[in-house]
Amino acid sequence: TASAENSILQSLNAAQRRAVTSNASTVAILAGPGSGKTHTLTSRVVWLVQQTGYQPSDIVVATFTVKAAREMKERIGKVLGPESEKKIVLGTFHSIARRYLSAYGKHIGLDSKFGIADDGDSRAIIQRICKRHDFNIDPGYARSWISKKKAKGHVADPPSNKKQLENPSLNECYREYQEHLERSNLLDYDDLLVRCVELLRAYPACVSNIQAVLIDEYQDTNGIQYDLMKLFGQARQRITIVGDPDQSIYGWRSAEIRNLYRLLRDFPQTDEISLEENYRSSRSILDVSLTVIQQDKKRYQKVLLPVHTKGTRPVLRKLKSSAAEGDWIVSEIKRAVTMFGEMLKYEDVAILLRSASLSRHIESALGKAGLAYRMIGGHKFYERKEIKVLLDYLRVVYQPDNNDSVARIINVPRRGIGDTTVKRLIEEAEQQKMSLWSLLRKHCQGSRKATTKILPKMEQKLNAELIRMVLNLQSHAQQITESSQQTLINLIEKLLSQLDFKQYLESEYPEDHEQRWQNVQEFLSLANDFVRDSANADEELLPEIEDVDQAKDDSTLGRFLANIALASDAQKNDEGAEKKSVITISTIHAAKGLEWPIVFIPAVYAGSIPHSRAEDLDEERRLLYVAMTRAQVLLYLSCPLYGSQGMSGKVELSPFVSPFESTAFAKQGASFNRPILEAAAKILKRHLPSEKAIFDKIPPMFSMEDNLFPIDPIDTRDPEGLGDSEGYRSKGSKRQRVNNQGYGSD
Ligand code: ATP
Ligand code: MG
Repeated sequence: TASAENSILQSLNAAQRRAVTSNASTVAILAGPGSGKTHTLTSRVVWLVQQTGYQPSDIVVATFTVKAAREMKERIGKVLGPESEKKIVLGTFHSIARRYLSAYGKHIGLDSKFGIADDGDSRAIIQRICKRHDFNIDPGYARSWISKKKAKGHVADPPSNKKQLENPSLNECYREYQEHLERSNLLDYDDLLVRCVELLRAYPACVSNIQAVLIDEYQDTNGIQYDLMKLFGQARQRITIVGDPDQSIYGWRSAEIRNLYRLLRDFPQTDEISLEENYRSSRSILDVSLTVIQQDKKRYQKVLLPVHTKGTRPVLRKLKSSAAEGDWIVSEIKRAVTMFGEMLKYEDVAILLRSASLSRHIESALGKAGLAYRMIGGHKFYERKEIKVLLDYLRVVYQPDNNDSVARIINVPRRGIGDTTVKRLIEEAEQQKMSLWSLLRKHCQGSRKATTKILPKMEQKLNAELIRMVLNLQSHAQQITESSQQTLINLIEKLLSQLDFKQYLESEYPEDHEQRWQNVQEFLSLANDFVRDSANADEELLPEIEDVDQAKDDSTLGRFLANIALASDAQKNDEGAEKKSVITISTIHAAKGLEWPIVFIPAVYAGSIPHSRAEDLDEERRLLYVAMTRAQVLLYLSCPLYGSQGMSGKVELSPFVSPFESTAFAKQGASFNRPILEAAAKILKRHLPSEKAIFDKIPPMFSMEDNLFPIDPIDTRDPEGLGDSEGYRSKGSKRQRVNNQGYGSD
C-alpha cells in the first residue's frame, strides 16, 4: 500500500531508495562505512515482502555476525510482525547452513543429529593427532591450513600419495582429523558450509522456494560462501549484496576480495549502486578515518561525504605504560559520561582491541574503578571448566557418538578411571571401529569381554553413575517438545542433581567453588533465555517440500547446543550482560558492522596494529579503519610507550597514524562545550541533557603527572572552535590549566 511504501522509504535518501526498490535481478551496493548499507538491505527485505509479495520464508538473508542478525531480525519484526520475523531465513552463513543440513541433510547421507565442533574442539582434536604422531607442527597452524584447504574444496589426499605431497604430515593430520569428525558425527565450521553446498547441488528442491538472497558484508565472503549464495539463489537468481572493499578484514580466513569481481562477471546485468553519505559519524571522525585509509594508494576510490557537523576532535594520547593507558581510558569515560548527562550511558562506550589478549590492563583499570563491562570475543564463558563439563554431558545426551565429549566426562566427577585406561579405551574403540560410547556400554553392561581391563567394581560404578544416568537423561530429552519447552531447564537441573554438581565443585575447587556455582546459575539463566527466545522469536522449522521429506529432528536440545557452538568466536560471553548498561570490550573483528557513540582504540603501536605477525599490511590498515569508523561522536586512540604487552622497551606509534599525529588529533582528551553537545545530540538523535550543573560535575582531566607525556604547544587552528580547546596548554615547559569545562566560550 502507499502508506506502507512511504514508511519504509521515508527514512532513506535517493540512492538508498533506488537500491531498495530496484527491479534488477542482481543489485550490488558498494559503499563506505556508515552509509546505510545494512539499513538499506533491511529495508529491501521489507520492501520485497510488502511490495513484491514474497513470503518471508522464501527470502534468505546472510549476515556476518550473530549480533547483526539479531538486530536485523528485530527491525524486520517491528515492521512486518513476529510471524514474518520467525519465518525469514536470516543468520550467519553457518547458522543458515546448519538449519538446512539438519532439515534435509539425510539426503546427502548426513545423520541429522550431527554435532558441531567449534574452533576449540577442532584445535583439541588436531593437537591430539599431532601429539600421537609426533608431528612437529603448530596445531593452530594446522587448523588454519586445513580450513583453507576446505574453503577451496580440497580433501586430504590418500596416504599412498605420500611421496609426492609437499607436506605429508599436514596432509596426514587433515586426513585423521576428518576421519575423527566423521566417526564422531561432528561437523566443523568449514564442513557446515561444504556440506551445505553439496546438499544444495544434490537436492535443489529444498531451495526451489527461494525468491531472493541478500548478503551483508559481502567483501568478507569466501569462495564457498560465494557458491552457497549462488546455490541459494538458483531458482530465481535474485541476489542483493552490500559491502565495502575498504572493510575487508578476513583475508586470513580465506575471504576473497575477488568475489566482487566474480559477481560482476557471473551477473553482468548487475545494478551497481553507490551510497555516498555517511550518517554515522561526526565530520572530524570521518575525516581522520579517511586520512588513514587513503594511505592505501592501490585501493578503489569511493566518495564518502559527512552528513554531520564537525564535533569534537578525535584524541590520540600517548601514555607511559599500559596501566596508565587503562587509567586514562577510565578517566575519559567518566568525564564523557558525566558531561553528556542523560544523553549517554555506559552501554554507549566501546573499547576495541586488535587482539583479545590486550584486554588485561583495560579490564583491571575498569575493575579498579568499579565500572562494569562485557567482553565480546574475549575470554569465554563457555570455556570455563565447570561449564564445559555440563556442555559435554549435554552433548553426550544429545549425541553419544561424540567421542571427545565422552572421553572428557568418563572420569568427571572422579570415578577412579585413570587417564591410561581412558586412552586404552579410545584406542580399542578406534580399532573396533565403534564409538567410545558403544564400547563403554558393551563393557559395562556385560555383553562383551574386554581387551582393556577395567575392574569389575569400576564397571559397575560406570554403569550406574554414567551410562544409566545418560540413558535416563536421553529419554527425558526426547520428551522435550515445542509445547513443553520448559523441560530443557528441567533436563539441566536433573543433570546437576544427578551429578551432585554443587558437592562436586565444593570438593574439587575448595577455593572458588562459589564463583563456579554462580557460573552454573548463569548457565541456567542463559538456557532459560534461549527457551524464552525460541518460544517467541526463534526461527521456524524449514517448510516441508513435497518431494523432499524433511526429518523433523531439530530438537530443542540440539538447537541449544548448536546455538552455543555457532556463537563461538564473536559472541561467547556476550550473553546475559546484554540487558545491563555496561561498557563493551570487543575485538575489532567482532565489532564489524556495529556502531557506538564513544569508541576507544588502545594500543595503537607498531607491533600491535599492524600486528607483528601480520602478513598483509593493507589489511591491518583496513582493520584500524573499521575500528575508527565505528565511532559516532567521540573517538579516542591511545598508545602506551613502555612496557607494552610482549614488547620490551619503547614502542613506536603505529605508522598508520604517526604521519598526521599532530595535525589530525587532539593530544590530551576530548574537549567539551555547548556546540559539541548539540552536535552529538543531533547525530545520536537524542535529547540534549538538561543544562544545569553538568559542568560542575565533570571530573578533571586525567592528570597523573607521572603518566603525562611531554606535550607539544597547542595549535590554534580550528576556526569553528569546536575541536581544539584542550584541557592543557603548555607554555614553554610550564603547564597551565585552562578552562576546558565552561559552556561554550564562543
Ligand atoms: P558499515 O559499513 O559499518 O556496516 P553501513 O553502511 O552498513 O555501515 P548502517 O549501519 O546501515 O551503515 O548505517 C549507519 C547509521 O546510519 C545507522 O545508525 C543508520 O540508522 C543510519 N542511517 C542510514 N541511512 C540513513 C538515512 N537515510 N537517514 C538517517 N540515518 C541513516
Ligand atoms: Mg553494515
